[in-house]
Amino acid sequence: MARTAPYRGVRRDRPAASKGRAVPIVLVALLAVGLASVLWPSRGARAENESPWPEPDAEAAKKLADELKRDLPAKDFRFEQAGPWIVATDLDAAATRRFIDGTIRTYAADIQRQLFDKTPRRTPVKVYLFKDERSYNGWNEKLFGEKPSTPYGYYSRTRKALVMNIGTGGGTLLHEMVHAMAEEEFPAIPAWLNEGLGSLYEASSRDAKGRVVGIANWRLTGLLADLKAGTAVKFADLVGMSDEEFYGENSGSNYASARYLMQWLQSQGQLEAFYRRIRDKTDDDPQASLRAVCGGKVTIAEIEAKCYAWVKTLKR
Ligand SMILES: [Zn+2]
Repeated sequence: MARTAPYRGVRRDRPAASKGRAVPIVLVALLAVGLASVLWPSRGARAENESPWPEPDAEAAKKLADELKRDLPAKDFRFEQAGPWIVATDLDAAATRRFIDGTIRTYAADIQRQLFDKTPRRTPVKVYLFKDERSYNGWNEKLFGEKPSTPYGYYSRTRKALVMNIGTGGGTLLHEMVHAMAEEEFPAIPAWLNEGLGSLYEASSRDAKGRVVGIANWRLTGLLADLKAGTAVKFADLVGMSDEEFYGENSGSNYASARYLMQWLQSQGQLEAFYRRIRDKTDDDPQASLRAVCGGKVTIAEIEAKCYAWVKTLKR
């Protein structure tokens, strides 16, 4: 797995309060911007010609574009569309290209092709890329009358919008785009799977075959601490967890375990198969799907032991 390549976004989900773990964000994000400008242009040009996204319904897309243009001043914002992603941003021209050609048209496009192969996202959604914290907070206040609960960005299904502080890097944008792509073809996707996948790609790179892969990120620190304390989430609990429980008081640990289960399956070449077996209801339940992609004759406890042993070898 190439660890030199571009993409090291980081994000929230657990406000720093939980267990007092720090979230290193800005530094990594700045690094990504520098590397990305070198690595992305050629891929962007290629991906542009091979968009995985069918054109969205023109009327629905225009409605969202009109809303953006009504709400945001043309003197400060650029407006652009990439498949179903109706983008408005106050970034400068070069940074706009990096995020639209790099994050959206290249990385997200490849994730759409690699993983979500049944129903590519066609439903249009607004993508606000606010250039920094001040813009993000100010426009959230002005447009929605509230201060967001996360400093990085979020996906609001009711507003049909991904709302980003893109100044923190593209990691959160990819995370939320993964949700938007997953839900198009798997509306009932359980939170543990949806968040495991979203979190996986918030720190992404390319492997030797050019595939987008998630790489170790800040959530590893929390998981290693859980493993040390003997409190890491049991896979038997995780893969059957209700959304309410997943987002409950132990959510930080749930995110971390789900994320590294996905990265481990990715390392085994089984991530896509696992996701699709659950999406397509191939097996009786997710535990059966997990056992199936791990050879069948293993218990969930044995899979968990293997995965967590591997996690302990990871470095950030
Ligand atoms: Zn998420």
